[in-house]
Amino acid sequence: MAVVALPLLSLTVRFPPFLRQSRTSRTTLIRSSSSPMDPHSRPKRVVVCGGGVIGVCTAYFLAKNGAVVTLVEKSSVACAASGKAGGFLALDWCDGGPLKSLARASFNLHRSLSQELDGPKSYGYRPLNTLSLTVTESQASKPHSGKSNLPSWVDGPGRSPRTIGTTETTAQVHPQLFCRTLISKAVEDYGVEVVIGKLEHVGVVEGRVNSVVLEGGRVINSDAVVLALGPWCGKFELLSCLFRVYGLKAHSIVLRPKEPEAITPHALFLSYYPAQGGKPLDPEVYPRPTGEVYICGMSSEAEIPDDPEEIVGNPESIEVLKSVAGSVSSHLREGEAEVKAEQACFLPCTDDGAPVIGEVPGVKGCYVATGHNCWGILNGPATGAAMAELVLDGQASIVDLSRFSPARFEGPR
Ligand SMILES: Cc1cc2nc3c(=O)[nH]c(=O)nc-3n(C[C@H](O)[C@H](O)[C@H](O)COP(=O)(O)OP(=O)(O)OC[C@H]3O[C@@H](n4cnc5c(N)ncnc54)[C@H](O)[C@@H]3O)c2cc1C
Repeated sequence: MAVVALPLLSLTVRFPPFLRQSRTSRTTLIRSSSSPMDPHSRPKRVVVCGGGVIGVCTAYFLAKNGAVVTLVEKSSVACAASGKAGGFLALDWCDGGPLKSLARASFNLHRSLSQELDGPKSYGYRPLNTLSLTVTESQASKPHSGKSNLPSWVDGPGRSPRTIGTTETTAQVHPQLFCRTLISKAVEDYGVEVVIGKLEHVGVVEGRVNSVVLEGGRVINSDAVVLALGPWCGKFELLSCLFRVYGLKAHSIVLRPKEPEAITPHALFLSYYPAQGGKPLDPEVYPRPTGEVYICGMSSEAEIPDDPEEIVGNPESIEVLKSVAGSVSSHLREGEAEVKAEQACFLPCTDDGAPVIGEVPGVKGCYVATGHNCWGILNGPATGAAMAELVLDGQASIVDLSRFSPARFEGPR
């Protein structure tokens, strides 16, 4: 396959200070919101807790539809999995399972959001081709013959390549830039207020939500609360007494090759056989339009630190990802590529593998949206749009949420 020299995207987006602040500082941005709602009833006040992709998308669609929204984030927007994910999107990879309609709706929403927000420039949205292939580390000295359909930069011992996605069915975003672009738009155009603070508890009176209380005692009154705390949802008794949310720790590295223009927009899903034997690994490689290459994998269940800023990768897992990079492409070997990031973060998981999206049984006005596992960036927009409908209209039309209701966990545990 011929190498296509592509112009490299320089993403020089400037974000307001609340997106970069440390957790010790607390900034409040308030803008007036013009509500399209009935002038006789005041707009609903909603507090969204958690500034990952799910909280940001929910805040965006709520505010766009007339709610007065406050987003509470403990550290900074997209500081956790939503900033460190791959950002890979697929139209039909969830077909055949409960996520089918959510994923399809969300893939299409990503496309329309990218038109609205100039996604290609502001957060690296682009359709791309996707291949699966087998790489055996011990054969690193035997590059493939060059006769396969592999792009020429994939010059390691890649075997059995197969096209598993095309520019019609697969795409990508830079997840942190996506979240930060969306929240900036929500603040500037729809009056969302962002508060850097830690949710301590949800105020409930006679079975109905009336406020949230932050660390330090600040109270924010609200008609509804959406808990979008990713794996940290499991730390709240209100939710943990109903269902389990746990974190799967996964690792990633970001490389900047010396010749970024040689890297074509092909996402790679590998079956990787390490030199020392053992089960094959399944790392993923995503070139980005910035010229960087993101590689992730190496996941296991682990305790989640209270502070997202304290999450660090295990050195051995990071080394494995570097070996993967060097085996896939000579452009990604040590010395040929600068290491821009070595990181880890937690996938939010539930016991039945499906997200939990809906009103918390027994607590009127309290909603939860979490458990998106490895598809949170893909499914953020449709989750946010559906949650906004549920909170404001009492039911969602964009996606049938009944399959995701937290009520499915009711009963003896
Ligand atoms: C290595 C890796 C690669 C991935 N790649 C992809 C991909 O290519 N495509 C895809 O679709 N998905 C991908 N995912 C999955 C995706 O990243 C997650 O599903 C998604 O980011 C979860 O978003 P979230 O908003 O639920 O949680 P998070 O991103 O974890 O956000 C939760 C937020 O809540 C905040 N918070 C926690 N406690 C409090 C509190 N008490 N008060 C206030 N705020 C609080 C945290 O600081 C955090 O910002 C990947 C995940 C990993 C780990």
